[in-house]
Amino acid sequence: MSDSPFLEAPEEVLSTMNPDGSRKWLFPRLSKGRFWRRRRWVAYALMLLFNVLPWLSMGGRPLVLLDVVHREFTLAGVMFRPTETLLLVLLLLVIFLGVFLVTSLFGRGWCGWACPQTVYMEYLYRPIERLAEGKSAARGQVSLWRRVIKYVLFGIVSVHLSHIFLSYFVGPTTVLSWSMNLPTEHLAGFLIVWGTAAMMFLDFAWFREQMCTLACPYGRFQSVLLDRNSLIVGYDESRAEPRGRLRKGQEAASTGDCVDCSLCVVTCPTGIDIRDGLQMECIACGECIDACDAVMDKLDRPRGLIRYASQESLSGAPTKWLRPRTMIYPVLLIFVLALLLRGVAGRQSAMVQDLRLSDSPFIVMGDQRVRNLVRVRIDNRTIDERDYTISLPINVEAIIPLNPVTIAPGESATAFLHVIVPRANFKSGRHVVAIQFSDGVDFDFTLDKVLLGPLH
Ligand code: SF4
Ligand code: SF4
Repeated sequence: MSDSPFLEAPEEVLSTMNPDGSRKWLFPRLSKGRFWRRRRWVAYALMLLFNVLPWLSMGGRPLVLLDVVHREFTLAGVMFRPTETLLLVLLLLVIFLGVFLVTSLFGRGWCGWACPQTVYMEYLYRPIERLAEGKSAARGQVSLWRRVIKYVLFGIVSVHLSHIFLSYFVGPTTVLSWSMNLPTEHLAGFLIVWGTAAMMFLDFAWFREQMCTLACPYGRFQSVLLDRNSLIVGYDESRAEPRGRLRKGQEAASTGDCVDCSLCVVTCPTGIDIRDGLQMECIACGECIDACDAVMDKLDRPRGLIRYASQESLSGAPTKWLRPRTMIYPVLLIFVLALLLRGVAGRQSAMVQDLRLSDSPFIVMGDQRVRNLVRVRIDNRTIDERDYTISLPINVEAIIPLNPVTIAPGESATAFLHVIVPRANFKSGRHVVAIQFSDGVDFDFTLDKVLLGPLH
């Protein structure tokens, strides 16, 4: 019986929770096998990429810049605005279909191999923890100074990562200049950086694997995204059971290959026992495979008691790579990707948007002519300053206070024009005029503007 005043759960509810509901802290044992080594190379490459990507440029523009304040999103040197709804929808569709396809083939491979939570936890924060605390952490006997060193190092890493993170939104040179000046000169940026650093620190120092097992929605979609032919990390029951240690004089054939050493459990970063079958908490990292392979090597038995395999192959049937979902997703993905690429290739160097007016857009003048106020927004998507000239058909009178409109690279401007048309031209209160926009370089656009006027 436990001394806890609370009712205890009759069985394990969560791998990170004790029966009385308190947090079970995990200090997974390191298993340096072939998958751990491969994942380490992937992790280092991803960390390097995360650090250098904001500094890279393409065609004079950043490779990636998500300027939320100015509502400009630059990817691969191409700037998008939120108004380019179709391209953004296509981009989202590509991402979703890609996730569906990868998951249906490789299960939670993303989680164990490339998700920032796993990459930074297992290959940066956890190594720092092991370095600072040694094996004493697992025994719960960490001295205060070791703990302080660990948290100071966690803090430094979190502050660095939050600066890099922010540079994706404001650019690395801006972050650098902010770092050189007093916080009062850029208070908002300062608060965002330190707020992000605090969240990272809390995540990696305290929340940890609960991000994967409790918070992340991706793991919860597994049941619909996976099927019995998807790759998972699985325990080969037919070969492993009945598990148990061989006792003196016991026939080797009387037990399976699992010697019940529990190394696959103590190495698991989410604290589960993979021998209980596929679980939502499994991030497919392969640590248990490495742990078990080492045991099998020592016992001179074949590796792969735990391995990457489909549920079908674990039950003795061949894995079907070609199945409806693995055929439909790629077809849809290629189709949407082609639309996206076509949309990007066909993008013009500027965009003109007709802005609606809240008041009545026209007035009938004394000489029976009708004056419409037209308001348009012009986005300059190039990296040069451009002059946009607005022109109308020769027989249409217009007053354009500012023409041409000069717009800085990547900026937008609102242009006003008053278009004056005889009242007789209006049919059912409408009359269409073609308004032309040109930058004299590579942008020519005609806006067929519906002018409104009196019904009679
Ligand atoms: S590491 Fe392998 S042998 Fe040891 S308990 Fe796990 S499955 Fe069994
Ligand atoms: S069960 Fe194995 S693959 Fe799954 S999270 Fe644990 S160690 Fe990683």
